[in-house]
Amino acid sequence: MVTQVQIVEWLQVFASVIEHHKEDLTELDASIGDADHGINMDRGFKKVRSILPSVAGKDISSIFKTVSMTLISSVGGASGPLYGTWFLRASSATAGKQELTAKDMLNLLQSGLEGVIERGKAQLGDKTMVDVLSPAVTAFEQAVNEGMETVAALRVAVGAAEGGLKETIPMLAKKGRASYLGDRSIGHQDPGGTSAYWMLRSLLEVVE
Ligand code: ADP
Ligand code: MG
Ligand code: MG
Repeated sequence: MVTQVQIVEWLQVFASVIEHHKEDLTELDASIGDADHGINMDRGFKKVRSILPSVAGKDISSIFKTVSMTLISSVGGASGPLYGTWFLRASSATAGKQELTAKDMLNLLQSGLEGVIERGKAQLGDKTMVDVLSPAVTAFEQAVNEGMETVAALRVAVGAAEGGLKETIPMLAKKGRASYLGDRSIGHQDPGGTSAYWMLRSLLEVVE
């Protein structure tokens, strides 16, 4: 079971990871975008961290809803609405829950990914966060169907996310700002995929 307390901790840990790696994200975005992904994410998750005390006693779904609204209102660019949608769908998927089973977690991860795809219309191979989130969901689903517990399944999912992230390097970007570069987008790791990988890795760290 993943508890509500662990969910709050996860958001705190992810916010810290973003804060510490703000420059790294911005550097990645400087190569194939407009050098603001670290700034965007850090602005949003600093705001999230500041509102966490006010949602500490709430159910998981309400926490995700608040995170979503905070991100949508404070993060600009492509990543704000996309992460906002991810958390909004995560909220719908966890309605009324104080803790999450492996199946609940699968539902959450699947719903978040579906939201990002509906919103951003990116497909696998377009060099976006979808190339990280999608293999993670597939791996998590397979692991859960094989009877693995949440932590073990998340470990597998984070491994798949890391593999997906590395695979973005040789990809040609077909969505977002990086797509304006055409062939010059090849050879660089996707910034949004990088933050998405850290999001999943932070969750694993907290539940492990
Ligand atoms: P912007 O590109 O508007 O400056 P950010 O730099 O914050 O926004 O975020 C860029 C990241 O957003 C990309 O690295 C990519 O992972 C993600 N992204 C951009 N467009 C899409 C899309 N249509 N679908 C999914 N992810 C996308
Ligand atoms: Mg950018
Ligand atoms: Mg921008």
